[in-house]
Amino acid sequence: MSRARVGGADVSTEHFIGGEHVGSGAVFTDLSPIDGSVLAEVARGGEREADLAVAAAAAAFPSWAALGPAGRAAHLHRLADLIDANLDRLAEVECLDMAMLLRSLKARVIARGARNFRAYADLAAAYEERAWSSNGTANRVLRMPSGPAVVITPWNAPFMLSTWKTAPALAAGCTVVLKPAEWSPLSCSLLADLVQEAGFPPGVFNVVQGIGEEVGAALVAHPGVRRISFTGSPETARHIGVAAARNIVPFTGELGGKGPLLVFADCDLEAAARKAAGQYDDAGQVCLAGTRLLVEEPVAEPFLELFHRFTDEHVLGDPRDDRTTVSPLIHPEHLSRVECFVERARANGDEVVRGGRRAAIGGLFYEPTLVVPRSNESEIVQREVFGPVLTFQTFAGEEEGVALANSTPYGLSGIVYTGSRERAERVGRAVRAGTVWVNTFLVRDLTAPFGGVGISGIGREGGDYALDFYSDLKTLQILEGSCR
Ligand code: NAD
Repeated sequence: MSRARVGGADVSTEHFIGGEHVGSGAVFTDLSPIDGSVLAEVARGGEREADLAVAAAAAAFPSWAALGPAGRAAHLHRLADLIDANLDRLAEVECLDMAMLLRSLKARVIARGARNFRAYADLAAAYEERAWSSNGTANRVLRMPSGPAVVITPWNAPFMLSTWKTAPALAAGCTVVLKPAEWSPLSCSLLADLVQEAGFPPGVFNVVQGIGEEVGAALVAHPGVRRISFTGSPETARHIGVAAARNIVPFTGELGGKGPLLVFADCDLEAAARKAAGQYDDAGQVCLAGTRLLVEEPVAEPFLELFHRFTDEHVLGDPRDDRTTVSPLIHPEHLSRVECFVERARANGDEVVRGGRRAAIGGLFYEPTLVVPRSNESEIVQREVFGPVLTFQTFAGEEEGVALANSTPYGLSGIVYTGSRERAERVGRAVRAGTVWVNTFLVRDLTAPFGGVGISGIGREGGDYALDFYSDLKTLQILEGSCR
């Protein structure tokens, strides 16, 4: 069995299929964004591994489905307890693999993985079938587990996002084949170890490592798959949607964002500016980030002054260091991508008023950057950068602010700062997005729906919405008085 030493942890570099660690002839190299060191040579799956994993998930499905919500909940609770017990190890590996701040990983992000499993164990167990009589029949709506589900996740927050998608699938009675992203694959290998330790039957949860266009494409095209749950970019979602359509398989896509952060003159300006500067956290590699700062004209100047003051407080550095607030970007290719966005903005006549270059400390750091676009049509306003790059625009009045907020093809999230309750209601409804936060950000209730509109997504996760996705809803009608 092939394993790598990553920090203090021993991590499998193989696939996890049918309860066994399985290698591949080929490997890919996984680098740490912190210092570019090689963390592991990871098994590079292809069609063979996709077939094996789907077959394992299909074989495990009937008995996992038959176990019922309470039986499955016991497994999910055990897994959640193991995540909590291994929090430090998981956080260290995730930090080395994707460079998210270690203190955030320890304080909330990894623990959210445990919360995901507990929440879905409880939600599935509490589900009550709808029952009613009409037309002389006793009717019920049953949630039937759909079958093997493929879960594909991106490189940012891979552990949290993988558990967020896997938990409802398992709770609903589906079996899972998870393919993590090739730039941060390791925490999902640790998840597989914990699943095994929690005593899940072999094949209920499988991990296949590899490149998206190779094993990812093979998995989503596989005829044995009954659900596909994807988080990543709209570009990849288009490929997955085509594959899903070929097999008539439902899929959800949690995709990119270009969220507005609307600042009205009647708000707590200091709180708004602090939150705006906070959009550089995690080097801006956050799908929900409010990357377009839209500020009402009368407060534009004082807002900018505060924003620069708070942004000056950022410390770029090693994500394991408690003083660091902005970590390196995930990969040299991604750093170049971010850099090219800003170069194209300059060439387009947009004004870079802050940052706009690689940081002097070297490595994969890019300076927190602010761009005043030449027009709202500029690429830097209209396309997701997924890095520490914000834009700044002003507006005159609510109508113009909302129009600007809704002027991109995305619609994942929005942030609004206002002191008026009526405005909070009006603008909250008018901003086109799956989630709108007013005077706060990233507060999540796991029972609430989560997803995007426009090119930010299709379908909803969260609460019962995800359980419904992983189920075939069936109407059962029995003629009243016809049987005893
Ligand atoms: P990506 O689309 O490049 O890759 C995502 C996953 O898809 C990876 O595992 C990749 O290997 C796989 N993949 C690539 N091509 C594939 C194919 N043809 N078939 C099957 N799988 C394939 O995205 P990324 O760069 O890893 O992640 C960044 C994107 O994810 C950003 O757009 C970000 O906004 C988005 N994101 C969205 C959410 C959300 O909840 N809405 C959360 C996090 C990230």
